[in-house]
Amino acid sequence: MEQASKNVVTGNRLKRYICLSSLQALIVNKPRHNYQNLLEVINLRDLFSKRSIESELRNPTDDFNLETQEIEYRKELLTGRACRINVKRSERKKQAQTGMGYSELIELSAKNCYFCPTNIKTATPMFPSSLVPEGRIKLGETTVFPNLFPFAKYHAVATVSRQHFLGIDEFTLRQIQDTVKASLKYFHCVRSKDQKAVYPIFSWNFLPPAGASVIHPHVQLTVDEQPTNLAWLYLSACKRYYAKHKENYWMHLLEIEKQEGERFLGEIGGVSWITSYVPLGNDEICGVFHDVSSLYGLDDTSISDLSKGLKRVFTAYTLYGVHSFNLSTFSASSEDESFRLIVRIIARPYPQSYYNNDAGYMERLHEEVIVESMPEKVASDLKEYFG
Ligand SMILES: [Zn+2]
Repeated sequence: MEQASKNVVTGNRLKRYICLSSLQALIVNKPRHNYQNLLEVINLRDLFSKRSIESELRNPTDDFNLETQEIEYRKELLTGRACRINVKRSERKKQAQTGMGYSELIELSAKNCYFCPTNIKTATPMFPSSLVPEGRIKLGETTVFPNLFPFAKYHAVATVSRQHFLGIDEFTLRQIQDTVKASLKYFHCVRSKDQKAVYPIFSWNFLPPAGASVIHPHVQLTVDEQPTNLAWLYLSACKRYYAKHKENYWMHLLEIEKQEGERFLGEIGGVSWITSYVPLGNDEICGVFHDVSSLYGLDDTSISDLSKGLKRVFTAYTLYGVHSFNLSTFSASSEDESFRLIVRIIARPYPQSYYNNDAGYMERLHEEVIVESMPEKVASDLKEYFG
């Protein structure tokens, strides 16, 4: 074990520094300590940077022959966020695709499920009448009610379906649309009651590997007075970008991504779908609204565009055998010319009794993401679903 880890870490050397976007690549042989200086002299309108290093090991699956693996250190220049991708690892198929190993779990969890139609009225909390006079918000198959253990001043749950379980590609457009619509109704109720709570987040942890404690499909809705750490990073960086360049970062990004095509999936109404250059997780897909910066700005048309896009994402994920995901929005507090409403979806491990989680010490203790999929490959594989 000790020998293996020693082999893995030997041979790291900075080989080249590549600056992408504007279809321009800079290849410079520089020692590590000059990296920051390089960042300062590159064109500010560039969006991303990449360093590639090589790591050497003697591979036991190849008679301990010396092997060199390439690792990409990618950075999003807007925020400074970074991730690492092992190119060889990204080519390895990760998701188990054999059978529904969690069918027993689904069956067991259906007994006395609080979110199922027979129990939902008696087992789930109700809103204070000052917030929602009816106690709960209902639309189609969706019911919105308070989270029993909130982690925000305003924290609700919305069921997506009456059925206890649906596979990732079984949600209907109507179910997704109604869930978004009912969630927005909740956000508007909060805003009309509390002028300070202006940062809404629409999120979905689908199945236990994504952090869901309840199998029954449901989304999480929070509204805070302050944005989350990462939302703040994006909102503030986009304001600085706008002040400096007099243009919206996301619109500029979409323009570049559409031209280049490597990570561009397609447009569905007023939303463009791309894979992120510096993802927050595996197989990340990102939806960027063209004309809306806040969840409060969504109308029926944009809700429909979003829902159609989400359905395509869920269907596309089945190609990879993805059954579990996290989804979350990044929203401005109101319409903001420097920002655009974003929705990011990442794949999570296959649901089974024993599995490796995809978050380790790098993600949890160093806030640095190790990504197992190459965004360009994901886009190339899944593009057909967005045409
Ligand atoms: Zn249920």
